[in-house]
Amino acid sequence: MRVCEVYRRPVPAFSFEFFPPKTEAGLERLYSRIAHLGELNPAFVSVTYGAGGSTRGKTVETARHIQNAIGIDTMAHLTCRGQDAAEVAAILDELAASGVQNVLALRGDAPIGEVGPTKGDFRYASDLISFIARRGGFCIGAACYPEGHIESPSREDDLAWTAEKVEAGADFLITQVFFDNAVYFDFVARARASGISVPIVPGLMPMTHVAQIERFTKMCGASIPAALSDRLEGYRDDEQATMAIGIEWALRQSRELLAGGAPGIHFYTLNRSLATRVVCMSLMG
Ligand code: FAD
Repeated sequence: MRVCEVYRRPVPAFSFEFFPPKTEAGLERLYSRIAHLGELNPAFVSVTYGAGGSTRGKTVETARHIQNAIGIDTMAHLTCRGQDAAEVAAILDELAASGVQNVLALRGDAPIGEVGPTKGDFRYASDLISFIARRGGFCIGAACYPEGHIESPSREDDLAWTAEKVEAGADFLITQVFFDNAVYFDFVARARASGISVPIVPGLMPMTHVAQIERFTKMCGASIPAALSDRLEGYRDDEQATMAIGIEWALRQSRELLAGGAPGIHFYTLNRSLATRVVCMSLMG
């Protein structure tokens, strides 16, 4: 199933994002979690790609297993920074041969410690998107940033480059994580006014650890609203309380987003499926 089709359905599409674990044991645990999440009938599962192609083999292997052995439609992330066209073409061939029809096409970031000019045949995600679109055969997703990408001089510039990704062939957009729905609704309004008409899927992260979420949001430039940090105050080391607040916040966000017309929710699980499972079950029940 091509992901572009799930956003045409009248029901919201829930999708779950995972990263490939480093060990075989971790992979087995992940597969069993994903099989369990299958009961929630996700529209698709997505598998991330390590910076500079560091998880290349694992991403393809994990996506192939979820698609064929578990039987859930899968989207493989693919970053182009530092890769040449022949490498990217080989990955696309492997994915196509595995029955994976969906790719989230990204630029990616430099691996930690890498300095100097970036090698490779692609500069921006839009170059990769054009490359995949010319090759054909894949439904293509791209990233977007309601609060602006961290390297962009302004939100307006970033929106213009997002529009370029859609013109290059992106069929849908998935947002960077955000915790304030006003940020999403404002972004969608600005995107529609600028002529972007593809589905814009909100990406949510049910929070489970305060330090982890602080690290992540600092890295990607997403903000934590004062109302949420006030709620978390005093629970920094209390995992259970943090998860309860995270679930309640993500559930409230999801309900409001879907009521406001979002085509579905993409959950960043960080490979911890419990919080996402609880949110989804509440949404469905
Ligand atoms: P681009 O769209 O190329 O944008 C990068 C920067 O360049 C932005 O500041 C943009 O405004 C600017 N820009 C774009 N085009 C132009 C242009 N033509 N001229 C001038 N400036 C331009 N990273 C991973 O390593 N692996 C993953 O699996 C992964 N999955 C992700 C999933 C989602 C849903 C999201 C939101 C992000 C994900 N990322 C992942 C992170 C992503 O790789 C980084 O955010 C990266 O810094 C930008 O990637 P991009 O595809 O948005 O890049």
